[in-house]
Amino acid sequence: MDTQMLIGSRFEAGTETEERVLNPKTGEAVLSLPEASLGQIDAAVDAAEKAFKSWSQTTPSQRSTYLLKIADAIERDAQGFAALEALNCGKPINAVLNDEIPAIVDCYRFFAGAVRNLHGPVAGEYLPGHTSMIRRDPIGIVGSIAPWNYPMMMMAWKLAPAISGGNTVVFKPSEQTPLTALKMAKLLADVLPEGVVNVILGRGESVGNALINHPKISMVSITGDVATGKKVLQAAAKTVKRTHLELGGKAPVIVFDDADIDAVVSGIRTFGYYNAGQDCTAACRIYADAKVYDNFVADLTSAVSSIKFNLADDTENEIGPLISKRQRDRVESFVTRAAEHKHMEITTGGKISGERGFFYAPTVVAGATQDDEIVRREVFGPVVSVTRFTNPDDAVTWANDSDYGLASSVWTKDISRGMQTAARLQYGCTWINTHFMLVNEMPHGGLKQSGYGKDMSVYAIEDYTAVRHVMINHG
Ligand code: NAD
Repeated sequence: MDTQMLIGSRFEAGTETEERVLNPKTGEAVLSLPEASLGQIDAAVDAAEKAFKSWSQTTPSQRSTYLLKIADAIERDAQGFAALEALNCGKPINAVLNDEIPAIVDCYRFFAGAVRNLHGPVAGEYLPGHTSMIRRDPIGIVGSIAPWNYPMMMMAWKLAPAISGGNTVVFKPSEQTPLTALKMAKLLADVLPEGVVNVILGRGESVGNALINHPKISMVSITGDVATGKKVLQAAAKTVKRTHLELGGKAPVIVFDDADIDAVVSGIRTFGYYNAGQDCTAACRIYADAKVYDNFVADLTSAVSSIKFNLADDTENEIGPLISKRQRDRVESFVTRAAEHKHMEITTGGKISGERGFFYAPTVVAGATQDDEIVRREVFGPVVSVTRFTNPDDAVTWANDSDYGLASSVWTKDISRGMQTAARLQYGCTWINTHFMLVNEMPHGGLKQSGYGKDMSVYAIEDYTAVRHVMINHG
């Protein structure tokens, strides 16, 4: 197992406080890793600064070749990466191997192509005797900070657009899930020139805080909690750093009376509970028309109670545990508080599962109303609430009545109704008759307190590059 940070071309252990890395399936420690010192953070930033001089001058074609090599190397070692991610996050091995790794490989391949195909306004004489042109140039050193729910995928979403755009990076994984980032560090050191990507370890309040406040960091990219995003903004204000924020979500799902209920039930069974609901786009806040509500709740309850988890044969598991005891207890407390209200009913789940690890049973909370905590706050666990509506306008109003604005979905057989509703929803993404599906060609990112950076797609390269105007006087 790789345990050392990457600073320039050097592999070294941190010298500060040790953090235990747990296996969420058992609750046991896999190992302990010391975090970076302030000197090591400075050294990583210096290495990125040195590398920027030459990396920023490479051509898109050259950077594209490096990204393709990264993609190929991950693909060759897919089993190794998947096993490590499954160990550190408790994810079912098949989910990592068959869903995540192909999407990660495709992410590097997408950006390898996209950076060679950037478009912009045409050059021309907008002032007589002067030619103007638009450039897209790198921003500098990016401080990238990732969460624990999809460690390797978030690393890909952050590194690929940043380095394809000519930036260099100091990357910090979540202190809870550093293992695949350390393995990636080895791979990246083999493929990339020295210092283009540096990987350092540590907690948010120490190493993360030092990174976002570092005077030589030009841009901070973070995926995490809204509260963490606000801290990044405060730090960024001191030196007016560029920020790329991907924060939480509380995705509404509107089920109209003409929806294909079997398709909705099967969809929510997957898209509400995938990754044990630890997903900022999880289909977790359902508004169902009163005409279909009772049947829908009954069918959903039965479908959710059949989700396979915590089985000895991991290839049978559909979902894993929560990432930590703290996260599981947090999920449990949301459901306990919901159950205290008479108008809500826990129709399945609602309990901790198993003696070991951090498992929580997939849960449906029926009868929730718009003001309930379970409808308003991000649970980030395998818990879906269902709210009844009689007026479709109310459903759209309630869906938009949220601090979050990341993802949403509408389920109806009437495509006009679907399109009209999509146009009214204030979310970075609206799916019609599906949920959760992402492709590297399309942007992922939010509105409101879900943040504003776009991951994936050419919009991510735009976020990680600066638009510049160059004007030539014909003399
Ligand atoms: P978190 O905010 O606690 O941690 C995210 C990262 O930020 C970690 O690496 C952490 O060490 C670091 N961090 C924490 N405090 C910091 C500080 N003061 N300064 C600098 N860095 C700091 O979030 P988490 O618990 O790891 O992740 C779960 C959250 O992430 C959820 O709220 C979820 O919705 C969100 N999320 C959003 C997206 C998205 O695309 N919008 C994707 C995945 C997760």
